[in-house]
Amino acid sequence: MAWTSAAAGSLALHILGADETPARREVEQSRAAVEDAMGVERGRTFYLDQVHSADVVTADGIGWGGAAGPTADASVSPDGSQPLAVLVADCLPVLFVDGLTGATAASHAGRRGLLDGVLENTVDALEALRPAGARGTFGMKAWIGPGVCGRCYEVPEDMRAEAAARIPELHSTTSWGTPALNLPAGAQAVLRARGVAVERIDLCTLEDERVFSHRRQPGRGRFVGLVWTTGAEAADRG
Ligand SMILES: [Zn+2]
Repeated sequence: MAWTSAAAGSLALHILGADETPARREVEQSRAAVEDAMGVERGRTFYLDQVHSADVVTADGIGWGGAAGPTADASVSPDGSQPLAVLVADCLPVLFVDGLTGATAASHAGRRGLLDGVLENTVDALEALRPAGARGTFGMKAWIGPGVCGRCYEVPEDMRAEAAARIPELHSTTSWGTPALNLPAGAQAVLRARGVAVERIDLCTLEDERVFSHRRQPGRGRFVGLVWTTGAEAADRG
Protein backbone atom coordinates (compact mmCIF):
# COMPACT_ATOMS: atom_id res chain seq x y z
CA MET A 1 0.00 0.00 0.00
CA ALA A 2 1.54 3.31 -1.02
CA TRP A 3 0.99 6.72 -2.52
CA THR A 4 3.15 8.31 -5.16
CA SER A 5 4.39 11.87 -4.71
CA ALA A 6 4.31 14.56 -7.37
CA ALA A 7 7.99 13.79 -7.93
CA ALA A 8 6.90 10.52 -9.57
CA GLY A 9 5.19 12.59 -12.28
CA SER A 10 1.56 12.62 -13.32
CA LEU A 11 0.20 9.10 -13.80
CA ALA A 12 -3.06 10.02 -15.53
CA LEU A 13 -3.68 9.55 -19.24
CA HIS A 14 -7.29 10.72 -19.21
CA ILE A 15 -6.47 14.38 -18.67
CA LEU A 16 -4.35 14.46 -21.82
CA GLY A 17 -5.71 15.51 -25.20
CA ALA A 18 -5.59 13.07 -28.13
CA ASP A 19 -2.68 14.92 -29.71
CA GLU A 20 -0.41 14.92 -26.67
CA THR A 21 1.81 12.00 -27.66
CA PRO A 22 4.97 13.20 -25.84
CA ALA A 23 2.99 13.72 -22.63
CA ARG A 24 1.43 10.28 -23.02
CA ARG A 25 4.88 8.71 -23.34
CA GLU A 26 5.94 10.56 -20.21
CA VAL A 27 2.98 9.19 -18.23
CA GLU A 28 3.73 5.67 -19.47
CA GLN A 29 7.37 6.02 -18.42
CA SER A 30 6.29 7.32 -15.01
CA ARG A 31 3.89 4.40 -14.54
CA ALA A 32 6.66 1.95 -15.46
CA ALA A 33 9.09 3.64 -13.04
CA VAL A 34 6.54 3.32 -10.23
CA GLU A 35 6.15 -0.39 -11.04
CA ASP A 36 9.94 -0.82 -10.97
CA ALA A 37 9.92 0.72 -7.48
CA MET A 38 7.06 -1.58 -6.44
CA GLY A 39 8.88 -4.61 -7.77
CA VAL A 40 6.07 -5.60 -10.12
CA GLU A 41 6.10 -6.33 -13.82
CA ARG A 42 5.79 -3.24 -16.05
CA GLY A 43 2.29 -2.64 -17.41
CA ARG A 44 0.66 -5.04 -14.94
CA THR A 45 -1.01 -2.51 -12.63
CA PHE A 46 -4.77 -2.21 -13.09
CA TYR A 47 -5.89 1.38 -13.76
CA LEU A 48 -9.52 2.48 -14.10
CA ASP A 49 -11.25 4.98 -16.34
CA GLN A 50 -12.70 6.89 -13.36
CA VAL A 51 -15.94 8.85 -13.69
CA HIS A 52 -17.04 9.62 -10.08
CA SER A 53 -19.40 6.64 -10.11
CA ALA A 54 -20.02 4.09 -7.35
CA ASP A 55 -19.24 1.14 -9.66
CA VAL A 56 -16.84 -1.62 -8.66
CA VAL A 57 -15.13 -3.98 -11.12
CA THR A 58 -12.97 -7.05 -10.70
CA ALA A 59 -9.43 -6.68 -12.00
CA ASP A 60 -9.12 -9.06 -14.93
CA GLY A 61 -5.38 -9.71 -14.97
CA ILE A 62 -4.78 -7.24 -17.78
CA GLY A 63 -2.87 -4.15 -16.67
CA TRP A 64 -2.56 -0.73 -18.30
CA GLY A 65 0.15 -2.11 -20.58
CA GLY A 66 -2.41 -4.36 -22.26
CA ALA A 67 -5.69 -2.47 -22.37
CA ALA A 68 -7.49 0.69 -21.34
CA GLY A 69 -9.07 0.16 -17.94
CA PRO A 70 -12.83 -0.27 -17.65
CA THR A 71 -15.07 2.62 -16.60
CA ALA A 72 -15.57 2.34 -12.84
CA ASP A 73 -14.34 3.93 -9.61
CA ALA A 74 -13.26 0.95 -7.59
CA SER A 75 -11.46 -2.28 -8.38
CA VAL A 76 -11.02 -5.56 -6.56
CA SER A 77 -8.31 -8.19 -6.94
CA PRO A 78 -9.91 -11.34 -5.46
CA ASP A 79 -6.60 -13.00 -4.55
CA GLY A 80 -4.59 -9.78 -4.23
CA SER A 81 -2.31 -10.86 -7.06
CA GLN A 82 -2.90 -7.87 -9.33
CA PRO A 83 -1.60 -4.44 -8.31
CA LEU A 84 -4.45 -1.89 -8.21
CA ALA A 85 -4.16 1.84 -8.81
CA VAL A 86 -6.54 4.70 -8.18
CA LEU A 87 -5.82 8.14 -9.65
CA VAL A 88 -6.48 11.16 -7.48
CA ALA A 89 -5.77 14.83 -6.93
CA ASP A 90 -7.98 16.01 -4.00
CA CYS A 91 -10.44 13.09 -4.08
CA LEU A 92 -9.52 10.30 -1.67
CA PRO A 93 -7.68 7.15 -2.63
CA VAL A 94 -9.04 4.41 -0.33
CA LEU A 95 -7.16 1.13 -0.31
CA PHE A 96 -8.33 -2.15 1.19
CA VAL A 97 -6.88 -5.46 2.25
CA ASP A 98 -9.04 -8.29 3.49
CA GLY A 99 -6.82 -10.23 5.89
CA LEU A 100 -9.19 -13.19 5.72
CA THR A 101 -9.19 -13.82 1.97
CA GLY A 102 -6.12 -11.90 0.81
CA ALA A 103 -8.31 -9.83 -1.52
CA THR A 104 -7.36 -6.21 -2.17
CA ALA A 105 -9.37 -3.24 -3.42
CA ALA A 106 -8.86 0.38 -4.40
CA SER A 107 -11.59 3.05 -4.44
CA HIS A 108 -11.75 6.57 -5.83
CA ALA A 109 -13.83 8.48 -3.29
CA GLY A 110 -14.70 12.08 -3.98
CA ARG A 111 -17.84 13.88 -2.85
CA ARG A 112 -20.09 12.26 -5.47
CA GLY A 113 -18.69 8.76 -5.02
CA LEU A 114 -18.92 8.94 -1.24
CA LEU A 115 -22.55 10.06 -1.38
CA ASP A 116 -23.42 7.42 -3.96
CA GLY A 117 -21.85 4.62 -1.92
CA VAL A 118 -18.59 3.73 -3.66
CA LEU A 119 -17.03 2.71 -0.34
CA GLU A 120 -20.01 0.60 0.75
CA ASN A 121 -20.03 -1.07 -2.67
CA THR A 122 -16.33 -1.86 -2.35
CA VAL A 123 -16.83 -3.38 1.11
CA ASP A 124 -19.77 -5.40 -0.28
CA ALA A 125 -17.59 -6.70 -3.12
CA LEU A 126 -14.88 -7.79 -0.68
CA GLU A 127 -17.41 -9.37 1.64
CA ALA A 128 -18.96 -11.32 -1.25
CA LEU A 129 -15.59 -13.00 -1.82
CA ARG A 130 -15.62 -14.51 1.67
CA PRO A 131 -16.82 -18.03 2.32
CA ALA A 132 -20.47 -18.22 3.39
CA GLY A 133 -19.57 -18.90 7.02
CA ALA A 134 -17.25 -15.90 7.27
CA ARG A 135 -19.31 -12.96 6.00
CA GLY A 136 -18.86 -9.61 7.71
CA THR A 137 -15.83 -7.35 7.78
CA PHE A 138 -13.74 -8.68 10.66
CA GLY A 139 -10.11 -8.59 9.54
CA MET A 140 -10.80 -6.07 6.77
CA LYS A 141 -8.64 -2.97 6.79
CA ALA A 142 -8.76 0.29 4.83
CA TRP A 143 -6.27 3.11 4.42
CA ILE A 144 -7.59 6.57 3.56
CA GLY A 145 -4.89 8.38 1.63
CA PRO A 146 -4.05 12.00 0.93
CA GLY A 147 -6.94 14.23 -0.17
CA VAL A 148 -8.26 17.74 0.29
CA CYS A 149 -8.95 18.31 4.00
CA GLY A 150 -12.00 19.65 5.80
CA ARG A 151 -10.39 23.06 6.37
CA CYS A 152 -9.73 23.54 2.63
CA TYR A 153 -12.58 21.94 0.67
CA GLU A 154 -14.94 24.89 0.28
CA VAL A 155 -18.40 24.15 -1.16
CA PRO A 156 -21.68 26.07 -1.49
CA GLU A 157 -23.93 25.99 1.58
CA ASP A 158 -26.62 23.88 -0.15
CA MET A 159 -24.05 21.31 -1.27
CA ARG A 160 -22.80 20.95 2.31
CA ALA A 161 -26.36 20.55 3.57
CA GLU A 162 -27.13 17.83 0.99
CA ALA A 163 -23.92 15.95 1.76
CA ALA A 164 -24.24 16.17 5.54
CA ALA A 165 -27.83 14.93 5.39
CA ARG A 166 -26.46 11.67 3.98
CA ILE A 167 -23.13 11.50 5.92
CA PRO A 168 -23.11 13.91 8.91
CA GLU A 169 -19.32 13.66 9.36
CA LEU A 170 -18.85 15.42 6.01
CA HIS A 171 -20.04 18.70 7.55
CA SER A 172 -17.13 21.10 7.91
CA THR A 173 -16.02 24.73 7.82
CA THR A 174 -13.00 26.14 6.03
CA SER A 175 -10.18 27.78 7.97
CA TRP A 176 -11.62 31.08 6.65
CA GLY A 177 -15.09 30.34 7.99
CA THR A 178 -17.14 29.23 4.95
CA PRO A 179 -19.07 25.98 4.31
CA ALA A 180 -16.84 22.98 3.59
CA LEU A 181 -16.80 19.20 3.36
CA ASN A 182 -14.50 16.90 5.29
CA LEU A 183 -14.05 13.96 2.92
CA PRO A 184 -11.57 12.00 5.10
CA ALA A 185 -13.89 12.20 8.13
CA GLY A 186 -16.86 11.17 5.98
CA ALA A 187 -15.01 8.21 4.49
CA GLN A 188 -13.81 7.11 7.91
CA ALA A 189 -17.34 7.24 9.31
CA VAL A 190 -18.75 5.18 6.44
CA LEU A 191 -16.06 2.51 6.81
CA ARG A 192 -16.28 2.36 10.61
CA ALA A 193 -20.04 1.96 10.39
CA ARG A 194 -19.35 -1.16 8.33
CA GLY A 195 -16.88 -2.44 10.92
CA VAL A 196 -13.80 -1.92 8.76
CA ALA A 197 -10.58 -0.98 10.59
CA VAL A 198 -9.42 2.39 9.24
CA GLU A 199 -6.13 4.18 9.12
CA ARG A 200 -6.00 7.76 7.90
CA ILE A 201 -3.04 9.48 6.34
CA ASP A 202 -3.45 13.12 7.35
CA LEU A 203 -1.94 14.85 4.38
CA CYS A 204 -3.91 17.60 2.66
CA THR A 205 -3.37 17.73 -1.11
CA LEU A 206 -4.23 21.43 -1.27
CA GLU A 207 -1.72 22.37 1.43
CA ASP A 208 1.11 19.94 0.68
CA GLU A 209 2.97 20.42 -2.60
CA ARG A 210 4.48 16.95 -2.46
CA VAL A 211 1.26 15.66 -4.01
CA PHE A 212 -0.93 16.89 -6.87
CA SER A 213 -4.02 18.96 -6.17
CA HIS A 214 -6.67 19.68 -8.79
CA ARG A 215 -7.83 22.73 -6.85
CA ARG A 216 -4.32 24.15 -6.39
CA GLN A 217 -3.16 23.42 -9.97
CA PRO A 218 -6.05 22.33 -12.25
CA GLY A 219 -5.00 19.83 -14.92
CA ARG A 220 -1.43 19.63 -13.63
CA GLY A 221 -1.52 15.93 -12.81
CA ARG A 222 -2.79 13.01 -10.78
CA PHE A 223 -0.96 10.83 -8.31
CA VAL A 224 -1.97 7.29 -7.45
CA GLY A 225 -2.86 5.21 -4.45
CA LEU A 226 -1.57 1.68 -4.93
CA VAL A 227 -2.28 -1.62 -3.27
CA TRP A 228 -0.43 -4.82 -4.09
CA THR A 229 0.87 -7.85 -2.31
CA THR A 230 4.36 -9.25 -2.51
CA GLY A 231 5.17 -12.92 -2.99
CA ALA A 232 6.22 -13.17 0.66
CA GLU A 233 2.83 -11.93 1.91
CA ALA A 234 0.99 -14.36 -0.32
CA ALA A 235 3.16 -17.22 0.98
CA ASP A 236 2.43 -16.19 4.59
CA ARG A 237 -1.25 -16.77 4.04
CA GLY A 238 -0.52 -20.17 2.57
ZN1 LIG B 1 -6.20 21.36 3.78
